[in-house]
Parts: sequence; C-alpha cells; structure tokens
Amino acid sequence: TNFRTDSLNDCVLKVIALIESEAISSGHEIQFHESTDDVLMLMDQDKMIQLLLNMMKNACEAMESNGSIHMKLSRDQKNATLIIADNGPGIPSDQLDKIFHPFFTTKETGTGLGLSICYKIVQDHQGTLEVESELGIGTRFILTFPVVVPMH
Ligand code: ADP
Ligand code: MG
Repeated sequence: TNFRTDSLNDCVLKVIALIESEAISSGHEIQFHESTDDVLMLMDQDKMIQLLLNMMKNACEAMESNGSIHMKLSRDQKNATLIIADNGPGIPSDQLDKIFHPFFTTKETGTGLGLSICYKIVQDHQGTLEVESELGIGTRFILTFPVVVPMH
C-alpha cells in the first residue's frame, strides 16, 4: 500500500469528475458541500478513490433517474466526516446489517463485493463507516477518518 498525506477535499472532487458524465446521463445531480478548512489525512489515494467511487456508483444505481447525491465534508481537531446521501429507495432494515457482507446483492447483475471492499478500505485508513436508511426517503453513508494536521 501507498499511504501519503493527501487532501480528502481533492479526492472527492476527483471522484465527482470520474462519475459526473454517467450521473448526468441518468439525470442525477451531485452536490458537494466542501469543508472550509482543508482536510488532510494519511491516505492511499487509489484506494480512497475506489471506495468513494463504489459508494457513488451504488447511489446512482439505486436512484432510477433524476436523483440527487449530496456530499458533505467537515472536520474537527481529530476527525474528518464525509456524508454521502442519496434520495433513492432506501434499504430495508433487515438488510442493513448484510450490505457490507461479501456477495450480498439485490441486483440481478451485482457482485455484492463493492461495500465489503469499501469496509476494508475504511478499516485500512483507521476510519469508521456507518449507514442510515429510510424506505422511500433515501440512504446516507457516514465515513470518518483521522486527520493528520490539527486546525490552528
Ligand atoms: P452490488 O452493488 O454489486 O450489489 P454492493 O456491495 O456495492 O454490491 O452493495 C450491496 C447491496 O447494498 C446492493 O445490492 C444494494 O441492495 C444495497 N445498497 C448499497 N448502496 C445502496 C444505496 N445507496 N441505496 C440503496 N441500496 C444500496
Ligand atoms: Mg456496488
């Protein structure tokens, strides 16, 4: 692995650039509320991109068309918090504890591997990953990571 001090703001912007045309062609909008303070953390950038791309792809796939993905990045002295929220169909409560398991999928052509890989990448970055979902309202993933540079 390849850990360096890197900006999580920049990483989110890179992932938005990667998925934007696909999202737009499905009629989805992506909003990113950046942190006012830069968010530097120790990261393997390729892994971080893989993680965020997986989550945004899942959001795009869950929302049939004209959905919206809201992302919000903030930080305090110790941690960065990134919220990735969609207004898709939501996840039934009896599935919430299974979505991170390898091979769990509700898609006809899904592998069910995306979120298990995400979970591993978050752990490798000493972070946390939580999900909240409400049927008919949407789903929100909450990621936290330790930041390296304290705020002045
Ligand atoms: P896959 O995308 O191949 O199905 P994942 O591990 O990425 O595998 O996701 C597992 C399952 O979690 C999905 O099949 C879907 O049921 C559910 N899921 C993940 N993200 C969302 C989301 N944003 N909205 C609704 N369901 C989701
Ligand atoms: Mg997936």
